[in-house]
Amino acid sequence: MIGHLVVIGVGLIGGSFALDLRRQGLVGRVTGVGRSHANLERARERGIIDAIATDAATAVADADLVLLAVPVGAMPALFRELAPAMPAGCLVTDAGSTKLDVIAAARAELPDHIDRFVPAHPIAGAETSGAGAAREGLYRGKPLILTPLPENQAADVDRVEALWHACGARVTRMDAAEHDRVFAAVSHLPHLAAFALVDELAGRQRADAYFRYAGSGFRDFTRIAGSHPEMWRDIALGNRDALLAELDAYVAKLGDIRELLERGDGAALERLFARARDARHLWLKNRHD
Ligand code: NAD
Repeated sequence: MIGHLVVIGVGLIGGSFALDLRRQGLVGRVTGVGRSHANLERARERGIIDAIATDAATAVADADLVLLAVPVGAMPALFRELAPAMPAGCLVTDAGSTKLDVIAAARAELPDHIDRFVPAHPIAGAETSGAGAAREGLYRGKPLILTPLPENQAADVDRVEALWHACGARVTRMDAAEHDRVFAAVSHLPHLAAFALVDELAGRQRADAYFRYAGSGFRDFTRIAGSHPEMWRDIALGNRDALLAELDAYVAKLGDIRELLERGDGAALERLFARARDARHLWLKNRHD
């Protein structure tokens, strides 16, 4: 049970977390902090939060748990703001899609309370954003990755884990560097590929003629290009090294395909496509959500 939860960034991720905890009676009251007053008002209307705070420092004065659910590039300044205001016993967690940069920011800006920061990343979400997009059950059956710090008390990590568990998430723990390498490959790179394809087509002189005929394959491949540009700017920059390595690997694979195509090597193309199809089938079969 959390007496006072402060959610900084009451959007899809932060709002859905608050809604789930409220529904289960696991939280006494929820205060929202954010950049957009209209969004916070919407969150209050929807019963996601009870109160709106003007700034993070005021909000956390008697907080038991603070969730940072803003774009990862906004986190360093918020850690700085929290540092002098953190009450004893208050835990801080986050939902950022990248972990090494967020942890580095917490170490730099929140050094006296680093033991109280428990980093987390819910593997759930959508291309929608804001308090209007928040919903109960978003995390049900979805993975949640904790990347605990050596300084964390086991009981604090367990407490954060229990809250996500209560939201229905399947919690696992992982090393932060490994987390960033894996998500560069399976999440961050696909977003770059989708943004790139749509931007390349949109930049053509007769773009409308192409978009008019784009069907469900195009829609599926580019769904994530509808994601929040600021959030993805921060993720790309926050995980730059791992993402550059993945980008190089992907470009190299596209180069291989280009070469096969140029040579007209249908047999090799078919083998490559079959390997990819089988790997995807297996992945789908083994998914739990
Ligand atoms: P969102 O846009 O729905 O919500 C973010 C909220 O933060 C907005 O209400 C915005 O007004 C507020 N905000 C932005 N900058 C701020 C600042 N400097 N100070 C205070 N408030 C600020 O985004 P979201 O999808 O909820 O993502 C939040 C975090 O969760 C991001 O770090 C993202 O990487 C991570 N995440 C997103 C997804 C996803 O699929 N959307 C999945 C997992 C993790």
